[in-house]
Parts: sequence; C-alpha cells; structure tokens
Amino acid sequence: MVALRAALTGLPSYIPAKQIPGAAPLASNESPYGLLPAVAALLRAPQADLSRYPDMASTRLVAAIAAHHGVDADQVAVGAGSSEVCGQLLHAVVEPGAEVIFGWRSFEAYPMLTAVAGGTAVRVPLRDDALDLDAMAASVTDRTRLIFVCNPNNPTGTALGAEGLLRFVAAVPERVVIAVDEAYREYVDPGRSLDASVALRDRPNVVVLRTFSKAYALAGLRVGYCVGPREVIAQVRKAQVPFSLGTLAQKAAIAALGDAGEVARRVQLTVAERERVAERLRALGFAVPQSQANFLWLPLGRSSAAFAQHCLAGAVVTRPFPDEGVRVTIGRPEQNDAFLDLTEKWLTSS
Ligand code: PMP
Repeated sequence: MVALRAALTGLPSYIPAKQIPGAAPLASNESPYGLLPAVAALLRAPQADLSRYPDMASTRLVAAIAAHHGVDADQVAVGAGSSEVCGQLLHAVVEPGAEVIFGWRSFEAYPMLTAVAGGTAVRVPLRDDALDLDAMAASVTDRTRLIFVCNPNNPTGTALGAEGLLRFVAAVPERVVIAVDEAYREYVDPGRSLDASVALRDRPNVVVLRTFSKAYALAGLRVGYCVGPREVIAQVRKAQVPFSLGTLAQKAAIAALGDAGEVARRVQLTVAERERVAERLRALGFAVPQSQANFLWLPLGRSSAAFAQHCLAGAVVTRPFPDEGVRVTIGRPEQNDAFLDLTEKWLTSS
C-alpha cells in the first residue's frame, strides 16, 4: 500500500455547491450580474500569446492593487483566488503542528488548508452567530502562529465592530499573524466595521485578504490577494505555486479594478436587496442575523437540509450546513423573490 500523509486521509474534501442548469445559483456568494463590462470587453479583444508563461510576479496587477489600497507594491501578494492566498499565508507562517485559530463556523477552507499546511486547527465557537473575539484572543498559546478573522463572517454574515477588532489586535501578541479575511468587504456599510487594510495598515502582524470573486464578479478566473507588512508579504510570495495566476486572470483583475463605478452600482443593488430579503424573512419569523455581506444566514437547525432540499425542488440552490443553518446568496431581484416564495411555501407546508 502507498504511504499517504495521515493528516489528510481523514480530511473531508471541499464540497462545491451543486450547479443545476436553469436553477437560481444562490449557494456560492457569486455576483449575480455576470462579468463587468470592462472585463467582457477585454476578453473579446485579441489576447497576448497565451502559449507563453504569465508574468510570475504579476507586476502590473500588483501595482494596480497597491494603488487601489494606497500601499507600496511590496506590501501586496497575489494568488489564484484568496483561497490560494490563505494557503500561501499558512505555508509562510505555520511550522508543523503550530496552532491556527479561527471562529467556527466560518469559511470551510480554513480547517482544510490548515491541515494541508501541517498546522493544528483551533476552532472557537461563535457567540450569537458572530466571531467571539475575546474567546479567540484567550485561545492564543505559545504554539499559535496564525489567526483567521473572517469579517464579515461566512456563513453568518455578521461584521465586527471597530472597537472590538482594535481591542483584539492589541491583545494578540505581535509574533502571531492575524489574517483579516475581507472577502465581502465591498458589501459592508463603512460605518459598521472598519476596513482593516486602512485601519490596521501599520500593524506589523496584520494581513488583509481580499478577492475578485465576489463584488468584482471574477470567481471563474481565480484572483485573490493580501495586503500586509513587507516581511510577511515577501514570505507569502515565496509560498505561491509558480505561475499559479494566469495571464488572462491578471489582465481581467486589472480591468475589474478600473470598473469601479459599475462595481459600486452593483454593490448598491445587492445591499438594497439584502435588506429587503432580510426584512421579509424576519417578518416571516426567521432569526436572520444582521448581514454585511452578499448572503443571509437562516439558523434552521435540524430543518436545514430539508429546507435546502425544498428550495432545490423549486429550482433555487442554497447552501445547507446540516443541523446548523442555510446560507442563501443575494441574487437578482427575481431570484430573491423566487427564494422568498419558496420560503413562504415552506412555512405553510410545515
Ligand atoms: N474567504 C471567504 C470568507 C470566502 O467566503 C471565500 C469564498 N467563498 C474565500 C475567502 C475565497 O474566495 P476565492 O478563493 O474565490 O477568492
């Protein structure tokens, strides 16, 4: 028998959401509005020679991201989606057996990537559907190397108050890297939570993760990045799989960054829809937490799988977390209406 790494044999594989032709895809927190016009135009134009390797340093993209955040280029590392950047960060800072803290439930890739990197996952239960920062700070030991702070948290959508986050960062020893995962930052009401890429920019141990998969509507091309202190970023870059970010992906992300007006318009639509759907769900009796992302959390407990199945039968794909809840992405208004209709039917039939 071949010898395999024990840490991975018992690990579940990442289960992607079902893709069902004709059904409303409200399971993966993607943009419902398709490619940004600037990206579509780029893809229609003749391309550079794709038989050549991409620019491994992603020089132009890194410069565009650095300009977007008002930082220097050596404070930015890129990868094939922020999932890959999470992995790079883990490989950059985690020694075998070191502890990696994150709230739970949170983004499913954290425990998987931690195991792949040889780290030990420390899951800190949520309190009232939100990250319990005090409990997370109290979980730090001499073995802790990295803490993921998912803000807003996936799948509950809750965002951290500025004061709590600042207190947390002050309480965590500087040798521990804090990765603030802001995959959904564009959907956050700026008054509700701070932008760590600005407010925590001078901290020597804070790295901010961002993605082009959500508000920038580029999930299929895979582009993510992190912004942080030079010393950490230099090491994160070393952990990138060579050439993992392709030429088209780099160019598309630059085009997407240049389409800021359209991104803002779409974000506004999604935020307005989020508030409309949340209000309706609450009126129907669901305890939906305040979401600052492009999805909502329905804490349905034991009914979660059955509810998701009911939605699926009505051609709406949601994301069930069995015995916990169901996450539904905010789609186009008509898709959200279809989901609300199914929810009402569920209530009358159960
Ligand atoms: N972080 C969070 C919190 C997410 O929800 C996701 C995607 N579901 C990601 C990171 C990764 O996104 P991507 O790899 O597509 O950039």
